[in-house]
Amino acid sequence: MQELYRMIPKVDIFLQKKAMQALIGEYGRNSVTEALREALAGLRRQAEQLEKGTVARAEQLENGAAAEAEQPEREQFIREIETMEESVKRILVRKQSCRFHHVINATGTVLHTNLGRAPLAQEQVFRLEEKLQGYSNLEYDLCRGKRGERYSHFEELLIRLTGAEAAVAVNNNAAAVLLTLSALSAGKEVIVSRGELIEIGGKFRIPEVIEQGGAVLREVGTTNKTHREDYARAVNEHTGAILKVHTSNYRIQGFTESVPVTELTGLGVPVIEDLGSGVLVNLETFGLEHEPTVQEAVRSGADVVCFSGDKLLGGPQAGIIAGKKELIGRIKTHPLMRAVRIDKFTAAALEMTLQEYEKAPDAVWERIPVLRMLKQKQPQLRDRAVRLRDMLLAQAEKAELEGWRLEILDCCSQAGGGSLPGQELPSAAMVISGTAAGMPGAEQLQERLRFLETPVIGRIARDKLWLDMRAVFEEELPILAAELAEVMTGQRKDAREK
Ligand SMILES: *Cc1c(COP(=O)(O)O)cnc(C)c1O
Repeated sequence: MQELYRMIPKVDIFLQKKAMQALIGEYGRNSVTEALREALAGLRRQAEQLEKGTVARAEQLENGAAAEAEQPEREQFIREIETMEESVKRILVRKQSCRFHHVINATGTVLHTNLGRAPLAQEQVFRLEEKLQGYSNLEYDLCRGKRGERYSHFEELLIRLTGAEAAVAVNNNAAAVLLTLSALSAGKEVIVSRGELIEIGGKFRIPEVIEQGGAVLREVGTTNKTHREDYARAVNEHTGAILKVHTSNYRIQGFTESVPVTELTGLGVPVIEDLGSGVLVNLETFGLEHEPTVQEAVRSGADVVCFSGDKLLGGPQAGIIAGKKELIGRIKTHPLMRAVRIDKFTAAALEMTLQEYEKAPDAVWERIPVLRMLKQKQPQLRDRAVRLRDMLLAQAEKAELEGWRLEILDCCSQAGGGSLPGQELPSAAMVISGTAAGMPGAEQLQERLRFLETPVIGRIARDKLWLDMRAVFEEELPILAAELAEVMTGQRKDAREK
């Protein structure tokens, strides 16, 4: 044991090796040192085990025979010391692969909150890159040559697209709702129907947001039914606003009633509507269920409408507030505004997304990835799954794929992100499973796919890995096929394995 231990050089000696220096150039000294320590710990454990084996054997055999029996293992051990940089690199690559990454979304969920919600199109990202090089006129009015507003870049667009008098955008919709409540109803009562006291993910709960905004919640109606009379009776001199909340992530069905905004506008207090996922187009156009649009909310008389930038709108994470000029003015000058203001990357991306809607309203169904993905019909997705399978088969020898079954199966995907709850979107998947004993199971296969250069996230059901085609970009298909070929033919073992 002593002998094997002594064979392992010290960290400093390793770091001086040329191959290690190259890794340091690529990953930085601290990461390489840390990875090296991890690899060395593995070697020490191995030395220990080898030694235990030697002792055990030595008790049974004469010393010479024992040494002989362990010779191949010792040689392997020495080889590993000599090729230490490979183990270190493997560790670094594995760690790297867990960082912020482009991933292929084969879950079928279009607005997957864990996967960054609305994706931008490649071409949009290129255009953004241009805008974001160096400085920009974020808060400088180029036409007038003086200080401008960061909202100015998209306020006009929002006004034209939504029909509202004024608009502003902040970091996200949660911030938009909090800011709106703070600016318009701090110290006052906010009336909400009991059927709309929702919680969405990440601890965003309407009662608590109202409290945070410095207002007092005034509940009216019941869980399933609220009438105009309930609101009317609750309005008094302490009322700051009526808040309507779109129940984005669940549905109440059956004996239900809620009051449309049109019936609440005459009560003498501002009506705020949290639309959740703001959509600017009519989803029925492509056979989806109707989702209230921002334009409809504005037209129905809501004084302020709040919605997300990265849900059905298909843009960057943002919260948009559109409404009456006087109220938006109060919101813009509220101290909280500065804390939740939109950053320049988002401002640029939001402007670009809104321009798509302005330039060619019909083309958004192709140009905004979220809308294109939602619009796709099952035959189209089946066709994509078949093409993926063909590409995969073209990459790998038939014999190499032995033991795997590839099926093209129908399935259901969803909009996600708390949008279009309960709506199932007929989709199709390429489904992978092992047929022979000893083949990796669905979990294991998914794990390998997570550690690829472009990680792939699928769905596991009935012990098979489902790669739903709805949220896979056409241009990702060749990468996906090549990576699957790599994993399935075993050229690339799980980066975690040795
Ligand atoms: C999603 C959602 C929010 C929060 O929006 P973010 O942009 O995620 O902050 C708020 N209210 C409703 C009704 C929502 O659906």
